[in-house]
Amino acid sequence: MPFYDQVNETAPRERLRTLQLQKLQKLLRDISGLNRFYAKKWRDAGIIAADIQSFSDFEKLPFTYKSALVLAQEEAPPFGTNATFSVDAYTRVHQTSGTTGTPMRVVDTPESWDWWGHCWGHVLKGAGVTSADRVFLPFSFGPFIGFWATVEGTKRVGAMMIPGGGWDSIQRLHMMRELGATVVCCTPTYALRLAEVARQAHFDMTSLSVRALIHAGEPGANIARTKARIEEAWSAKCFDHAGASEVGAHSFECELQPGGIHLIESEFIAEVIDPQTGLEAGAGETGELVITNLGRAGFPVIRYRTGDLVRMNLSPCACGRTFARFDGGLLGRSDDMVTIRGVNVYPTAIENVIRQFGSVDEFQVTVTTVHEMRHLEVQIEVVSGNDAEHVRTHVEQAIYHAISLRPTVSVAEPGTLEHFEMKARRFRRLNGPSENQQT
Ligand SMILES: [Zn+2]
Repeated sequence: MPFYDQVNETAPRERLRTLQLQKLQKLLRDISGLNRFYAKKWRDAGIIAADIQSFSDFEKLPFTYKSALVLAQEEAPPFGTNATFSVDAYTRVHQTSGTTGTPMRVVDTPESWDWWGHCWGHVLKGAGVTSADRVFLPFSFGPFIGFWATVEGTKRVGAMMIPGGGWDSIQRLHMMRELGATVVCCTPTYALRLAEVARQAHFDMTSLSVRALIHAGEPGANIARTKARIEEAWSAKCFDHAGASEVGAHSFECELQPGGIHLIESEFIAEVIDPQTGLEAGAGETGELVITNLGRAGFPVIRYRTGDLVRMNLSPCACGRTFARFDGGLLGRSDDMVTIRGVNVYPTAIENVIRQFGSVDEFQVTVTTVHEMRHLEVQIEVVSGNDAEHVRTHVEQAIYHAISLRPTVSVAEPGTLEHFEMKARRFRRLNGPSENQQT
């Protein structure tokens, strides 16, 4: 079983907690007097960072919200008051994809960029990647941090990195075959897109040597039906990974795939809270992930409200790691849930239903409000050669069966729905008054 950092990955939990506290105290010392964002935040809360001696002290620190980091950036553009050091200390800048709201910039020093590579080392080794592997990255590199950090990670594990930028999907498939790529890192959406392109171009997917895909950027590898569909199309194993630009690459799936992802607890502190009350969720309960990164003094997040819903499992994994697991991966976003006629609907639940239909290529879900009632509308693109009406009826029934809500399913002309290469945006809410609001 390959580990990236065996001593810490298999350490008794008490030792992990001690290590976390030591790293936290060092971080607080390193940013003390330099980081304007936290200096103000803690001054306002009446807290002196040097007094943090235990986890119960730590829990007195106020939460950090993404909106506050965005505001901090607006107050001191372009990098904001959370950039601890002077600008010349930084060697990297990235920004969030900005699909919702203002893009947030993050900056890294050489040390914190190394730390990103170190975290990705865990992700790659977790999926069994070694120096014998050739890792294909099918992207044109933009400001998004995710797969830049993968490049650093491949170097750490000694694998060969194959850059696949500036090419279209079919060229990438040929390149994977010619260069013998064994691992592909991409969003689940793009893995399915490549398979679709292969099918249209009569490219034989079994001629590839890819044995593993590592997914990030959106849910999918943790959605059973989506994962099964990717694994079938690629004849390869899918691995889930979670991270965020402002947080780091924090969780990965091990080779045993115990139905969840391990948090790199030597580099992050995770808490799970009730998103409404902010209080710690009970053991094994689903709640919002609050995370503290321990290796990025130049741009730290401390008790950061990720908005991701998780269920933490502290029991040791059969792989030998003692790192906590999030059962089922990131289960959704605390703000993604939409209530339709009294039913709580998560986008991942709908995706899990639709992905069981091999005859559906792409889909789009829209929540509309008509006469103060919300409705679920689903558009599907049906693979040619299938009876579209037959597929449509079955999708409608399957969604109704799964979530007890009857959607309106319609068939879109082939090629009219947006096909995604990075993060997909398949769920839309057309703004209208909520069910309980008056117009
Ligand atoms: Zn494991």
